[in-house]
Amino acid sequence: MEVYLSENAFIGLLVSALEVYRRECFGILLGHSTPDRVFVEFAVPYQSANRKYREVHIDWKRSQRVEEAVRSTTRWECIGDYHSHSKFGLRRATTQLSNEDKQHFSEGTVGVVVAVNDIRKPRPWSYVKGGTLSGSVNGYSIRIAAYYKSNDHIARAHVVSPYAIGFMEKRQDLFRRSIQ
Ligand SMILES: [Zn+2]
Repeated sequence: MEVYLSENAFIGLLVSALEVYRRECFGILLGHSTPDRVFVEFAVPYQSANRKYREVHIDWKRSQRVEEAVRSTTRWECIGDYHSHSKFGLRRATTQLSNEDKQHFSEGTVGVVVAVNDIRKPRPWSYVKGGTLSGSVNGYSIRIAAYYKSNDHIARAHVVSPYAIGFMEKRQDLFRRSIQ
């Protein structure tokens, strides 16, 4: 399974995760899906998410209301959700799903996890082993991983974001040139 992130979705995930760092964000993913590809067009943050440092709980009734609103007003579908993991004390954030993440994972949907940590040196955006997208923004290290649940089994999906790899790399080249 491949999970494509559009420019809007990629920026949405970054802004949403960085805004609340070191707390954790939660939101829904809008887009469309085919049997082996999911296209994420938008990442929409939930303002009502009761953000704690370790876990994010949301009001599930409200979530259903949002899904119905999306279905009746846009051509996109709710294809899954996302949340961030933040560095906690000395423990660095990872993109691994917690037990609670697994419990709340709905069948047939995609779950994106954005891990945010402090970092000293900027790092170009690239794909790392297992299909994770990794890079940095303004002193924060970001890793974006995706999972997909089918037949009651949660598997890792490959994150694909031409925008992140191409455009961000060019930006960093320009930046490097301008400081030399
Ligand atoms: Zn989690």
